[in-house]
Amino acid sequence: MLKELIDKFYLDREREKEDKERTRFYISESGKCSRAIFFRFKRAPKKELEAERLRVFEFGNHIQQIVLRPLVSLGLVETTEVPIPPHQIISGRADIILKVGGERYVVDVKSISGRMNLTKMERPMPEHYEQVQLYLHFFKIKKGILLYVNKDTQELKDFVFDYDGYLIEKLLKRFENLKLKIESNIIPNRLSDYPINWQCQNCEYREICDIVSAGEINWDDFKKKIETQTSE
Ligand code: SF4
Repeated sequence: MLKELIDKFYLDREREKEDKERTRFYISESGKCSRAIFFRFKRAPKKELEAERLRVFEFGNHIQQIVLRPLVSLGLVETTEVPIPPHQIISGRADIILKVGGERYVVDVKSISGRMNLTKMERPMPEHYEQVQLYLHFFKIKKGILLYVNKDTQELKDFVFDYDGYLIEKLLKRFENLKLKIESNIIPNRLSDYPINWQCQNCEYREICDIVSAGEINWDDFKKKIETQTSE
């Protein structure tokens, strides 16, 4: 009985979020598949997320609170959950901005599964690194930290790095290009390592992505193709 009620709460909340029209990219979408982002903007048919997975996402927020408490009591935290200054096509909210030894840092907290061995991790995951770089850019802060928390063992690992203006140019260009594709109804290419890329394994658009070819295709032609397939 309670399971159904709790699941419904999470699923309704998610549907409400999805009903809102998208006008901006989220910083957390940096490094993610352009085709999947396109489908999200166009509200393409997708597999509904399971309530369990939505609760896993929420659990990540609690983990953030666990690491935040000691940082606050040490007097290091300037602000948390801070939105980037208004931008035409990008929005996002940094987890933490703090100051250590006179230097300001943007900190992003990522919870990872117990299957990943943090001691063997030599560098941050590229998409996480890109996200923090974008926060550094929008907040005009020179140093970033990615703090990984193993949610099963509570082990921590952090990576400290400098702002990379060259990378930012590439990331902003990528978002600009995707915006043009969305406006001109051109579905971007599949990921080059589809279907083995981890994003494809968990992708809610996998079913419709499988229907069409790997290359770019017009959105209206694609919709006709889906309609024909589903009416057969
Ligand atoms: S299945 Fe893979 S290539 Fe297709 S939209 Fe999803 S993530 Fe992108």
